[in-house]
Amino acid sequence: MKKTLKKALALILCFALLVPAAVLGVSAAEKKTDCGDDCEFYPTIIIPGLGQSSVCVTDDDGEFLLDKDGKKISAFPAYIQIGDIIKKAALPLILSLLTQSDRGLSDAIKEVIRSCFGINQADLKAQIVTNVKVEKFPYSFAECSEYDMSVINSHIPFNKYHTDLPYDHLYYFTYNSFGNHIDTALELYDYIQMVKEQTGHDKVNIVPISQGGTIASAMFQYKPEIYDDLHKVIFIVPCLDGSTIIGDVFNDRVNFLNPEYLYNGFFEESRLVDKNTAKLIEVVARILPDDVLVGALSEAVDVLVGEIMTRSTSMWAMCPSGDYPTAREKYLSAPEMAEIRKQTDQYYQAQLNSRANIQKLVDKGIQVFNVAQYDYAMINVGESWNTENGDYIIQLDSTSMGAYAANCGETLPEGYQQANTSPNCSDPTHNHISPDNVVDASAGLLPDSTWYFDGQRHDLTQHNDVILEIAFELIAHDDITDVYSDERFPQFLSGRDVRAIEGLLEQAKEVDASSLSAEDAAALNAAIAKAEADLADSTSGDLSKAVDGLTDILVKIGVVEPVDTSDNIFTKISPALFNLFGSNGFSEMPKLILNMLIKPIYETINSIIAAIV
Ligand SMILES: [Zn+2]
Ligand SMILES: [Zn+2]
Repeated sequence: MKKTLKKALALILCFALLVPAAVLGVSAAEKKTDCGDDCEFYPTIIIPGLGQSSVCVTDDDGEFLLDKDGKKISAFPAYIQIGDIIKKAALPLILSLLTQSDRGLSDAIKEVIRSCFGINQADLKAQIVTNVKVEKFPYSFAECSEYDMSVINSHIPFNKYHTDLPYDHLYYFTYNSFGNHIDTALELYDYIQMVKEQTGHDKVNIVPISQGGTIASAMFQYKPEIYDDLHKVIFIVPCLDGSTIIGDVFNDRVNFLNPEYLYNGFFEESRLVDKNTAKLIEVVARILPDDVLVGALSEAVDVLVGEIMTRSTSMWAMCPSGDYPTAREKYLSAPEMAEIRKQTDQYYQAQLNSRANIQKLVDKGIQVFNVAQYDYAMINVGESWNTENGDYIIQLDSTSMGAYAANCGETLPEGYQQANTSPNCSDPTHNHISPDNVVDASAGLLPDSTWYFDGQRHDLTQHNDVILEIAFELIAHDDITDVYSDERFPQFLSGRDVRAIEGLLEQAKEVDASSLSAEDAAALNAAIAKAEADLADSTSGDLSKAVDGLTDILVKIGVVEPVDTSDNIFTKISPALFNLFGSNGFSEMPKLILNMLIKPIYETINSIIAAIV
């Protein structure tokens, strides 16, 4: 009797525990919209680019670590702990400065790189097993908390633009940019299945952006059944055949380890800092002898590339197919790299098939769109930077699926005829050559549905309002079928970054015009009108006149400070130092000066002796 009672109690307990679990357990698969067959929308999944997911540091229990302000600590691209860096590097740096030689500086820098970037180091199975976690949103924007949306908007400003697509149809897929590439691609597949279940739709749109293009490519290759789930694919500057930056770095073609360039133009040409700062850095860099500095830099690159980047299968997915075989030979030949190599070889096939797989999308009736950017020379990290057209981060050939283009600053050869090699141009009489005679879009895979933005920098894509407007229109409606559908969005458009003009406009509109002279008030209104008109015109790329107009009047009425853009003293000092002393540090200069003084005296004496003898 007692036994039976116990059994009954145990059963009841089991039910009590199981029932709520069952109810809660289905939440991911729960249908969350009332979409019927007549829903006019398709759920859309954004697959963001490099670093556009929030990846944060955790403790050993997988709980997010918080900083002193209670905020999660970012692990992308590194986990920066200032105190730790000072502890590791301060003494070796001081000793090296005092002795003008490498007194532990290289070792300290290697340690700093390891502790900062090691947070994203994969093991030999290509898995990240360190204390990092990606913040995920397995639900639509409609269910995102205020915090979730602040994270998403910090990467792509959805809050600034309108889309007719209801927020319960919009999703943001996140991943670690250093993470396991195959796992991420399979996760994306699962995520799409989850979205289908939550919305009740059987087809979705996906928007692969930049590095997200590698993930989509991998998914098409590994999970071809996904084709049945897609209505539309909207690529935004996709990294479909890698970036030459990674190709160069993985093949020892790094520019800044050359002192002749490092001390004479590298920083300015990098466009990471303005000219004045670049020249200041060149001068300050002479605080150490060039061989000490370049030696330490070189060791830092070795650690970053050899120990961190080449263990990340997601980094490998951004190596161009043409650069992969040699880089694979260099970094993945050792027996212990076999598992990583197996996985990167798998992606290499996906990469080689990328255009064929996209053609398959087209052939199956899935609408495919693309946005590419050109005439912004690649960053000068690698030696290939000025050899082909690109958008600072990815070469145009990769993002445009094969468009032919002149190099940045050049035009197509005289008498050039468009290639018409794509099977997807609906009318051979289309003119697919850019008005500036730089790009032949007919050589790209999708001539009728690829937009090209002139002079747009890759890492500022999210600040080009026209690109976002095109994307937001495409995800909500099917009215735009190609680059001829909407006169606001012709094939060739201009790069722009609306942050400056929007900031100035906001300040201008806050001014109390009644406090101004009639002349100033009129000038302010005219500047506002000009700025608003240029902003509203999607085909007017150059916003600089409107920005200048607003700046001039706002400076005149004392709302903003004038910005001094004139060259500072270092723009003169640095080239002078380079001409006199090459890449040598300050401590090496006295010896060189002595040489310079003694050499003519010595030569004079020599010639006198020669004349006498
Ligand atoms: Zn719906
Ligand atoms: Zn065409």
